[in-house]
Amino acid sequence: MPDSSNIQQNTASVEQRIDAIEAMFEARGMKAREAIDEFEHTIEEKWIPENGARVVAKAWTDPEFKKRLLANGRAAVGELGLTMPPHHRHLVVKENSPTLQNVICCTLCSCTAFSIIGLPPDWYKDLEYRSRIVRQSRTVLKELGLDLPESIYIRVWDTTADTRYMILPVQPEHTKGWSEEELAKIVTKDAMIGVARL
Ligand code: FE
Repeated sequence: MPDSSNIQQNTASVEQRIDAIEAMFEARGMKAREAIDEFEHTIEEKWIPENGARVVAKAWTDPEFKKRLLANGRAAVGELGLTMPPHHRHLVVKENSPTLQNVICCTLCSCTAFSIIGLPPDWYKDLEYRSRIVRQSRTVLKELGLDLPESIYIRVWDTTADTRYMILPVQPEHTKGWSEEELAKIVTKDAMIGVARL
C-alpha cells in the first residue's frame, strides 16, 4: 500500500506549482507573465469603484439619465464610456429610498458588476455573508455597521453569472446642489453593494 504521508511531503508548494505552470506557458511561447501583469493593471486601474461613483453622481443630478439607468443599466453606463464584460449581459440598478434598503450578494460565489463598482471585498466572498445576508439581513447589516430601524424594508438581490446589480444610494440631503464631481467623491463601494447608507 502506498504511504500517503510520503505523497503529502512530495507535493510542491503553491509557488512551485505556479512557477511550473508559468514555465510551461513560456516554453510554448505564451506570455503568461505579461498577461498576468496586464490583468493586474486592469484590476487596479480600471475596475474601480470610482466608475460606479460617477454613475451614481450623474443619476443624482440628471433625472433623465437616472430613468435610462434604471431601465437599462448596461446601456446607461455605456453613455459614460464604461464597459462591462460580454457575459455581464444585464446591469440591474436598484434604487434605495428613505424606507427601502437594497443589498446585493452572490450566494453561489462572488459575482459583482466589478468593472463598475470594483472587485468584491473579501467579506462579500465569505460563505458567512453569502448565506446569512439572505436569512438574517437586518442582523448582518448591523454587524457591518448599518443599524437600520424596523421601518426600513430590506430587499436582497442575488447576483447570477449574467445579471449583475448595483445599488443607487439615497443622496444625502446636505449634498443637494453639489457638482457631479463633488458628489462622486462621497459614493463608496459599500454603498453600491448596499451595506452602507451615505
Ligand atoms: Fe458569484
